[in-house]
Amino acid sequence: MSDSVNPVIYYNALHPLAETSGHEERTSAYIAKTLKELDIAYVEHVGGFGIVATIDSGVEGPCVMFRADMDALPYSNPDGSIVAVHACGHDAHCSMLLAAAGSFKDIVKKGKLKIIFQPGEEDLTGALAMINDGVLDDVDIAIGAHIRPIMDVPAGSMSAEVTHVACATVKVRFEGSIAHASRPHQGINPIDMAASYIGMVNSIRLDPNASWSTKATRITGEPGAYNNTSGWCEIVFDLRAATNPLLTKMLDSMNTMAQSTALAYGGRLTWTQIDYCPASDYDPELVAMIEESIRTQIGPDKLVPPTGGGGEDFHFYKVKKPSVRTAYFGVGVGAAPGLHKRDMTFQTQYMVNGVKVWKDIARKLLG
Ligand SMILES: [Zn+2]
Ligand SMILES: [Zn+2]
Repeated sequence: MSDSVNPVIYYNALHPLAETSGHEERTSAYIAKTLKELDIAYVEHVGGFGIVATIDSGVEGPCVMFRADMDALPYSNPDGSIVAVHACGHDAHCSMLLAAAGSFKDIVKKGKLKIIFQPGEEDLTGALAMINDGVLDDVDIAIGAHIRPIMDVPAGSMSAEVTHVACATVKVRFEGSIAHASRPHQGINPIDMAASYIGMVNSIRLDPNASWSTKATRITGEPGAYNNTSGWCEIVFDLRAATNPLLTKMLDSMNTMAQSTALAYGGRLTWTQIDYCPASDYDPELVAMIEESIRTQIGPDKLVPPTGGGGEDFHFYKVKKPSVRTAYFGVGVGAAPGLHKRDMTFQTQYMVNGVKVWKDIARKLLG
C-alpha cells in the first residue's frame, strides 16, 4: 500500500494561491495538476471551479463522497485594496484530501469514491452549484471535515462531529402611501406596520429547550421629508435554529405574521429570503464509525466531544438529497486566534491526523 504524501507539501503550494468564493481558478488548476500526477481521473468545472475526482473499483458497493472546500476570505488593506487570505483553513482541507488521494487508489476495493473540491463555501453558493451540475446523483454517503480553532479542539485531538445551525436572512418590505404629516389618515404608514410586525416577531414562542433566535438587524425607511409619512419600510431579520424543521417553523410564522400585518393596515408586503443555510443532520452510525477511527488512528485520549459553530453549505448535500447519509469531523490543529481572523495560523504538522482518519474511513466504507 502506498504511503500518503505529507499534506504540508500541498499546503505550502495552496496557501499562497488564496482566492475568494467563485474565483478559485489557480487553486483548481493546482488541484487538477496534482490529481493528474497521481493518475486519478477527474472532471473540472463542476459548479464553477469545482473538481470531482473519482476512484471506481468497478465492484458493486456504495458511492462515497469526500468533500474539501477551496475558497479563501476577502480582507481590505489600509489603501482600500482587497486581499484573499486562507483564514478559514480551506487550503488545509484540500491538502489533507490530496495527501490521502494516492492511498485511496489502493484502499478502494468496492463501490466508488468521489473526492470533491468545492468552490464557494464562504458565500454558500458552491455546494448548490455542484449539486446543480449533478455531483450528488449517484452519492449514498457524503463526509466533510474542517480544521477547528484551538479553543474548540486542542492541537492533535479530533472531534467526530462538528455541528452547525440552520440560518436564514429575510428582508420584509412593507409599502403604504405617503401622506402629509398633518393628515396621516390620508396615507398608509409602513413604519406603523413595521413597528407592529417587529413586536409580533419578538413574541414568537418556540420550544425553549431548543436553541433558536430571530431578531431585526436593520430597518430602513423611504428617504424624504420629515413632515411626510414614508412610502415604504424594509426590515432585515437574521434567524438561527438548531434544526431545519425549527427554522422552517420560524420562517412560516414570520411570513404569516407579515402577510396579516400588511392586510390589517391595507398595505402591501414583499417577502425576500436573502440567504439560507441548513443545519447539520448527521447519521449516528457514521459518526460512531469516525469516533472509532479517531480512537484507533490518533489515540483513545485524542477524541473530544462534538463541537460546533457557524454555518456550512455542506448541509445542502443532505437537504437536496435526503437519502444521503452525512458526517463531518473536526481536526484539531491549534488554529489561533480563531477561524476567519485575518492572522489565523495553525500547526501544519497536525494535518496528518486528518489524512489518517480520511484513509481509515475509506477503508471502512470501501475497503
Ligand atoms: Zn469560513
Ligand atoms: Zn470554513
